Amino acid sequence: MSTSKYPVVIDVHSHIRVPEVLDYMKDYPITATGPGTDDWYVDNSRSSASANMVELEKQRKKVSTDPAERIRQLDERRVDIQVISVNFPNTCYWMEPENGLHAARLANKGIAEFCSYAPDRLIPLGVVPMQAPELAAAELERCVKELGFRGAWINSHVRAKDIGEEQFRAFWAKAEELDVPVFVHPLNAVDFDRLRKHFRFNAIGNPLEETLAMASLIYEGILDDFPKLKPGICHGGGYLPYYPGRVDYCYDTNRGGAAEAFRQRPSEYFGRFFYDTNTFDRYALEVLIKRAGVSQVMYGSDWPAIPEDYFHHIEELSFLSDEDRQRIVWKNAAELYKISV
Ligand SMILES: [Zn+2]
Repeated sequence: MSTSKYPVVIDVHSHIRVPEVLDYMKDYPITATGPGTDDWYVDNSRSSASANMVELEKQRKKVSTDPAERIRQLDERRVDIQVISVNFPNTCYWMEPENGLHAARLANKGIAEFCSYAPDRLIPLGVVPMQAPELAAAELERCVKELGFRGAWINSHVRAKDIGEEQFRAFWAKAEELDVPVFVHPLNAVDFDRLRKHFRFNAIGNPLEETLAMASLIYEGILDDFPKLKPGICHGGGYLPYYPGRVDYCYDTNRGGAAEAFRQRPSEYFGRFFYDTNTFDRYALEVLIKRAGVSQVMYGSDWPAIPEDYFHHIEELSFLSDEDRQRIVWKNAAELYKISV
């Protein structure tokens, strides 16, 4: 890719894994039940559908656990700075609260150590036990104030509960107070049985999860009540930014009391979210930038989960100005994560 015209390239969507969390999980029985809770990967998964993911993760193990190898490959990819988060299963929302907090702290210790190898290039985001929102708020504060993390990385639902629901407000209040972004990443589509075949839980389920998470933050009034909150939605925001007509129509006609539940048309909130560019499709990226605004979109690769690099989409969109590209490639991320360039 052509990166020489940018002072730096910042990738906001990437994953590592923390082996200590995986070790801890192996002995922990899954007690949660219900949709979205039975496929938690690794050796104690109750489903075989994640075996595919386990195999994929094995192939990426070194670059996901060895920071020296990570930096070497980042240089190859001509990425200067990467925002680091875990991928599933390191969030462990199925555990009971105290165990979940322990797992989150193990994860955050591992993330901090990984990023300390190259603190100017590896930017940490924390894991928080969302199954216990008060503990999640406290762990976020510890991550930011004691470990110097730049925000949190959460999953799209918590034991099949949408993240905008009342019980999670303590966490959102803390994120706003600390002035750090919270990026939402899909995990285990709640309608898993309908998506089991042919990797559809990933192909369809992941963007569906992002859509539901984004809608939940809008519909439950989280964005109204926390006006300075900085939520991010992975993979270009799922499906919602590309299909605003129906949600706006239902709001305009007050179907189901939607117009009384939150203050603006759903599409008017699109510019409140941050997004990565990882839409897999150039035209989709164009729609996203036009709907949400160029200030809200940042280069994100989802590497090493997605080995291919779609950076070229940013170059190919002819409606973007040079300044727009600077924003998407590094400026927006530098501002959001307080990275000095
Ligand atoms: Zn990802």
